[in-house]
Amino acid sequence: MADTEFALDLNDDQKEVRDWIHGFAADVMRPAAAEWDEREETPWPIIQEAAKIGLYSLDFYAQQFFDPTGLGIPMAMEELFWGDAGIGLSIVGTGLAAVGVLANGTEEQIGTWVPQMYGDASDVKVAAFCSSEPDAGSDVSAMRTRAVYDEAKDEWVLNGTKTWATNGGIANVHVVVAVVDSELGSKGHASFIVPPNTPGLSQGQKFKKHGIRASHTAEVVLEDVRVPGHCLLGGKEKLDERLARARERAEAGGVGVQGRVKNAAMATFEASRPAVGAQAVGIARAAYETALEYAKTRVQFGRPIIDNQGVAFQLADMRTRVDAARLLVWRASWMAAAGRRFDSAEGSMSKLFAGETAKSVTAQAMQILGGNGYTREYPVERMHRDAAIYTIFEGTSEIQRLVIARTLSGVPIR
Ligand SMILES: Cc1cc2nc3c(=O)[nH]c(=O)nc-3n(C[C@H](O)[C@H](O)[C@H](O)COP(=O)(O)OP(=O)(O)OC[C@H]3O[C@@H](n4cnc5c(N)ncnc54)[C@H](O)[C@@H]3O)c2cc1C
Repeated sequence: MADTEFALDLNDDQKEVRDWIHGFAADVMRPAAAEWDEREETPWPIIQEAAKIGLYSLDFYAQQFFDPTGLGIPMAMEELFWGDAGIGLSIVGTGLAAVGVLANGTEEQIGTWVPQMYGDASDVKVAAFCSSEPDAGSDVSAMRTRAVYDEAKDEWVLNGTKTWATNGGIANVHVVVAVVDSELGSKGHASFIVPPNTPGLSQGQKFKKHGIRASHTAEVVLEDVRVPGHCLLGGKEKLDERLARARERAEAGGVGVQGRVKNAAMATFEASRPAVGAQAVGIARAAYETALEYAKTRVQFGRPIIDNQGVAFQLADMRTRVDAARLLVWRASWMAAAGRRFDSAEGSMSKLFAGETAKSVTAQAMQILGGNGYTREYPVERMHRDAAIYTIFEGTSEIQRLVIARTLSGVPIR
């Protein structure tokens, strides 16, 4: 493309994929959404349906991930979460663990573990990424789960309690972030694969949630969990080098502990923020569309409620915010694919704005549906409950603002 050209059009391949996912979202996910929300269980049959058509597979995500425009993943996320967010998260939750391996693992580790995260259509599996702990949510540096190297056996021994893990305890493969050097804050963390059926890993409490109830969220307890040396993502040599550099900086009073070297969990979150923003765009769009249709057909005072500016202007604002959120998500996704650095925290901007948009647009949609909007007969109350997580997980809105403000100012704002 010449330098002067600029386009936001999807190409024919992208449109074809988008329409295919949209079909699955409309025909398979939407009709099942209310049921799985009430059941508060992982919708295994729907994941299996997705696997059968190739939508739940490493190949599919790899293809979208390597789309040179960067729009493959956000487009897929938006359509799936337009279908339903709880089921959507059950379908894409494995991706967070896969990104953890892709961001920090060797080629061999990627080849060995990522396929086991998905299983196959006849025996689908899921994976979990376990970073958060009861006392280490936004403050990742407060993490306590320890990984100690047993040199004689070339094994790592993991102990601690993880919380809020999507697919925690039901996953085939768990990716666990743990402290290997407690002097170095978050620079002393490393990520480990816990292979299927490893003794010592168990599920703690399963949370009963406000929204995304078709997605399983639970504590993961690690008691003397022994994993082979090759389960350290990136390998021991790379870890030792990274720790030595961080120690040098810390001793020199430099940027060692609070500095620029990314830790393992942060690398995962940074890569996934625009994709999470795209999920929020999908929920917001679904709520906006539902409200638009309702406003055109609901008659009060002898005319459709959309004839009132008070309603029509809300819809105008909703649609404007949805489109603005998508543009921020697409910009960050394009930048990532083009190898541009997020010098102004563009990934965080996209997640912040899209998450807040989903929350406000779904609330407006409930208002437009009146009493019906408040019932489970209509989908917008579920969308509103689902949207609320988007200002909390993968970095709360406050943490996104902190990242953006620090990046823009260069000041270590607290
Ligand atoms: C449904 C669900 C699924 C999740 N899935 C996963 C998962 O798969 N893997 C995983 O590792 N984690 C997961 N999480 C955890 C999630 O990322 C954390 O909940 C999130 O990072 C916030 O941490 P916290 O809940 O401990 O809140 P806290 O960090 O305790 O924050 C509480 C409040 O204080 C605010 N706050 C904290 N620090 C500051 C500050 N410096 N400045 C301003 N405000 C601040 C926060 O913004 C928030 O409003 C999940 C959470 C949920 C609810």
